[in-house]
Amino acid sequence: MDALELRERLAVAASSLRSCLEQQQAAGIAFLPAATGTQAEEPRGPVTAAEGGEVAAATDLQELRDVLGDCRRCKLSGGRSRIVYGVGRADADVMFIGEGPGEDEDREGEPFVGRAGQLLTDIITKGMRLRREDVYIANVVKCRPPRNRDPEPDEVAACEPFLVRQIELVRPRVIIALGRAAAQTLLRSTEAISRLRGRWHDYHGIRLMPTFHPAYLLRNPGEKRLVWEDIKSVLRELGTAA
Ligand code: SF4
Repeated sequence: MDALELRERLAVAASSLRSCLEQQQAAGIAFLPAATGTQAEEPRGPVTAAEGGEVAAATDLQELRDVLGDCRRCKLSGGRSRIVYGVGRADADVMFIGEGPGEDEDREGEPFVGRAGQLLTDIITKGMRLRREDVYIANVVKCRPPRNRDPEPDEVAACEPFLVRQIELVRPRVIIALGRAAAQTLLRSTEAISRLRGRWHDYHGIRLMPTFHPAYLLRNPGEKRLVWEDIKSVLRELGTAA
């Protein structure tokens, strides 16, 4: 192919690309997806036996975070911006566990930020008279499920060894499971959160109180009084009730 022919072919290709883009623009498509050069990475599967040993051997939360690494063990890794590991006091008496990060958490890398997070902070500070940094906050899965759907069983199974070890390392006196998905997952139950909440359960020897998720309370503020009942039970258990 000579230079003239090459130029003509490039001109034809440029013209057809321009007309394609104009058609897309007319259809309201403003952006083209960024080219990555690679296909989305396949999840590489749950912890191996060797990694299970490393999880069990982690002696503090930072060591465990290092074992987690840039985790690609389940398909949630494909849609996340950041891993949301957990935050708070390493030897907290109270550990809050939600189901998974939402949009705000995925962006900031911290559990329970945004409006639901502010409500949880109010529960901790105004209801429990603690500081947010006095408790530990984590989720069942550490990457955001698409469209905030419930985590799927394979995703929970892949992530659970890390949550279990976080609980073992923090050794809280009380776990508060926030919402149906977290409570059902931790308790291996299919009961509705309205039936699970308000009474104590056992999680491997740790007292566990399920209650409604703050995001649910934002939609149903009338249910806050039930959460307050649950929190009062927790305060009695801790011996810090007013
Ligand atoms: S949800 Fe958990 S197991 Fe899945 S990729 Fe994220 S950190 Fe890994």
